[in-house]
Amino acid sequence: MRDALNQGLIEFLKASPTPFHATASLAQRLEAAGFQRLDERDSWATVPGGRYYVTRNDSSIIAIKLGKLSPLLSGIRMVGAHTDSPCLRVKPQPELQRHGFLQLGVEVYGGALLAPWFDRDLSLAGRVTFRRDGKVESQLVDFKLPIAVIPNLAIHLNRTANEGWPINPQLELPPIIAQVAGDERVDFRALLTEQLAREHELNADVVLDYELSFYDTQDAALIGLHGDFIAGARLDNLLSCYAGLQAMLASDSDETCVLVCTDHEEVGSSSACGADGPMLEQTLQRLLPDGDEYVRTVQRSLMVSADNAHGVHPNYADKHDGNHGPKLNAGPVIKVNNNQRYATNSETAGFFRHLCMAEEVPVQSFVVRSDMGCGSTIGPITASHLGVRTVDIGLPTFAMHSIRELCGSQDLAHLVKVLTAFYRTRELP
Ligand SMILES: [Zn+2]
Repeated sequence: MRDALNQGLIEFLKASPTPFHATASLAQRLEAAGFQRLDERDSWATVPGGRYYVTRNDSSIIAIKLGKLSPLLSGIRMVGAHTDSPCLRVKPQPELQRHGFLQLGVEVYGGALLAPWFDRDLSLAGRVTFRRDGKVESQLVDFKLPIAVIPNLAIHLNRTANEGWPINPQLELPPIIAQVAGDERVDFRALLTEQLAREHELNADVVLDYELSFYDTQDAALIGLHGDFIAGARLDNLLSCYAGLQAMLASDSDETCVLVCTDHEEVGSSSACGADGPMLEQTLQRLLPDGDEYVRTVQRSLMVSADNAHGVHPNYADKHDGNHGPKLNAGPVIKVNNNQRYATNSETAGFFRHLCMAEEVPVQSFVVRSDMGCGSTIGPITASHLGVRTVDIGLPTFAMHSIRELCGSQDLAHLVKVLTAFYRTRELP
């Protein structure tokens, strides 16, 4: 079970180099399990017991399993996560031709740890918008091959490199994608037109725009002497998306269950499809058009906001409060912040702890050191929008926001087990 889950995660990460691809990967797996696509522009005819999903901007997705009984009676069990990860995005006019090299100008998306991007075999993926036969269309692309690299500067030319040096994103990050002759001019949009033809046999008249990010071509892998860890890109937060998906697919209860995975968390969630936008609220309102029933149902519901936590790193253990150092492979972490950077309260934390105990899943607590600032999640944002009770939890990881993050190989199974139990819960507190 654990090995199958880990292998499934590794394949999911490979298929999901961008939020667009993550959404498509989730949709594909939901469809294979009998979930039907709902279009937000159409009217919906949902039925009790039905399984549906809806996407927005191709980069956020909500899966819905309607209970046989009205959710008004027992509330909705919701799990939330995010589809995006920090990365390098290609600028609109990216071509840089200097010293015989073709490079692409990039914008840093989110709070990326930049140093690990050097000396990696990078590829490019995302969404391309183009014109064909007078119509504007979009398509996902993934170059898959390692087509780019950001080489480090040799230590001989930067003698203090090991003492740490600031990275100027404008000057030092443009990846090299080719060597070109002096008078040859390369048009990046023309390269994308070729990629559309190669990947989708699609003849675009002209590429209009795109949202493309670089990613590491090295696959995620089970590592460590005893296979104790999983190393890979985008564990924050595709690890939680995948756990939520597996729990949703395993949940066979009569209760109404929702999985919401939204884009733009790493940049604050404020967008039409982000957690600070109206997508989840509008979706729930369409399922519960009566205003009174909507409020009553939300007040009986509960949201588990799943996003990774910082495990205690043996080389940097003093970065954690001595009593709150989550360990890898020791189960999900309940995240507490009394200043509401996390939405957890004693009731929601207590309920999650109770679920873990009942499932014999180990559970841990995290609170940031009192002399350090705290990160946040979609938890407080969703709680504020819907007024729904929320608990922030997540699996402990190392190297959050690196191009290669690390988690424990036993923890995914722990999280899937407890989220499945949550989706199956008969009565919420
Ligand atoms: Zn995250």
